Amino acid sequence: MIQLYMPLNFIGSSYREIKQGLIDVEQMFTLLKVNAEIKDKPGAKPLHVGPAEVVFENVSFAYDPARPILKNLSLRVPPGKTVAIVGPSGAGKSTISRLLYRFYDVNGGRILIDGQDISQVTQTSLRAAIGMVPQDTVLFNDTIRYNIRYGRPDATDEEVVAAARMAQINDFVMSLPKGYDALVGERGLKLSGGEKQRVSIARTILKGPPILILDEATSALDSFTEHQIQAALRKVSENRTTLVIAHRLSTVVDADEIIVLERGQVAERGTHDELLAENGIYAAMWNRQRQVDQAREILKEAEKEG
Ligand code: ATP
Repeated sequence: MIQLYMPLNFIGSSYREIKQGLIDVEQMFTLLKVNAEIKDKPGAKPLHVGPAEVVFENVSFAYDPARPILKNLSLRVPPGKTVAIVGPSGAGKSTISRLLYRFYDVNGGRILIDGQDISQVTQTSLRAAIGMVPQDTVLFNDTIRYNIRYGRPDATDEEVVAAARMAQINDFVMSLPKGYDALVGERGLKLSGGEKQRVSIARTILKGPPILILDEATSALDSFTEHQIQAALRKVSENRTTLVIAHRLSTVVDADEIIVLERGQVAERGTHDELLAENGIYAAMWNRQRQVDQAREILKEAEKEG
């Protein structure tokens, strides 16, 4: 029954968006699911963000009690630093980002921001402190300008363009006949995964949160797009506490710490150089990726010549 009533509540609270037909149905249901599962504790206080240190303390989590996903996971992202999570598909990498954004509550342990347990603070204050660049950004059926400005509704046009420049998407936008007034989303221009992710990065730059979660797209991007996205991500994560969920290894080389996750547990941790020297799982993943990249380059060259 609750399921049936939820959409009505939701429509009530998001009247403005529904009225303007801006919100994507898929996104609406994603939000619904989240709202239904997580609530503020009675008397929850706002999060006070200081230097923005993120700590996972013996965190355990399962979507389904019969199948644990994270087991006793501990990690620390020091203020302003970048920690990258790598590991095989299904290891639980994206789950870590969903828990930090509190799409779900942990089953064991705690997640702390500047010493405050995130399950005890208001969701609004938590989400105001975190910028999330998800794997698959859902855009509103509106202009590019609106989609970027969503990060900070009172931003000026100049600030929107400045954010787009930093996110390496301004040139693309300027190449569209309508520029920033071009309509995107289901009922407008269909952007590629890489373009959507850069719009999302621009939105996050505008929001300017002290903590960032970057969940890389899993889909293969061409090397030009990948390069542009990496440059955008580097800019946005500078001096911000950043958790990168890396599905490819090229983004993690500069991370202050790399955590290799395997079946929900930390298998290795260290910097890129330390992990290569260890010659374990990370080194094997790195070598494999290099071989794949080299093979791709050789194929490309052969295509050009042939
Ligand atoms: P990838 O690199 O393929 O994105 P990942 O390491 O990010 O993988 P997660 O998305 O964290 O993996 O998923 C970890 C496990 O949890 C997977 O086995 C997945 O099937 C399962 N899982 C993810 N989301 C849900 C969900 N909403 N309900 C139930 N199981 C889920």
